[in-house]
Amino acid sequence: MKIAIDGPAGAGKSTIARIVAAELGCLYLDTGAMYRALTYEALRRRLDLSDEKALAALAAAMDLRLVPGRRGRAPRVYVGGREITRDIRSPEVSHRVSQVASHAKVREAMVRRQRAIASQGSVVMDGRDIGTTVLPEADLKIFLQASVKERAKRRSRELRRQGHKVRLRELVHQIAQRDEADSERAASPLTKAPDAVELDTTEMSVRQVVQTILELLNRGDGNV
Ligand code: C5P
Repeated sequence: MKIAIDGPAGAGKSTIARIVAAELGCLYLDTGAMYRALTYEALRRRLDLSDEKALAALAAAMDLRLVPGRRGRAPRVYVGGREITRDIRSPEVSHRVSQVASHAKVREAMVRRQRAIASQGSVVMDGRDIGTTVLPEADLKIFLQASVKERAKRRSRELRRQGHKVRLRELVHQIAQRDEADSERAASPLTKAPDAVELDTTEMSVRQVVQTILELLNRGDGNV
């Protein structure tokens, strides 16, 4: 079974996707963490972030590992054996990641890795292009939405928990900018797949969203 969960930054994709995966006993793949890890590594190596070829080569070759967290927990991220789980959530990486993810050749390398992982078994994958590009044949496609303000509040809570200092106004601005960059890029932009079920989570609790997705699966909505 393949489940695709797409949507803009802070819509709750990763929280929802990892709980749904735990409930179903299948793998959760956070594709945003993959683009973040690439961005972190590119910055560490002082690569030029407009150098598509160099970034695509790094995306294809880097020793990236995502280790599933315990039930409901975020996966741990390693590059070259070094844990960078926290580093990939830094404001610097958040600010740069959309630029790195905009390159078509980078996306090709990432999509190849993501499909290889999906071919190993059942998976819940979250990102921006899962339903449209990575897993167009997914059994269920969900597109999560929420107002920019609500998404910024959620991100701010998450970042504060991780010890980052944040201002809500700045987060609203950054999230809006990232939405724009992700939606307007030429290479597989953030768009809702025509056969995706859209859920506006602004007024919904995590449990309600998870429950709705499990019910859609049980009812056999989407293509299930
Ligand atoms: O999901 P998250 O907000 O961590 O993703 C970080 C960034 O990675 C996004 O803003 C987007 O630029 C990029 N991304 C992408 N395609 C995906 C997942 C993430 O372009 N499938």
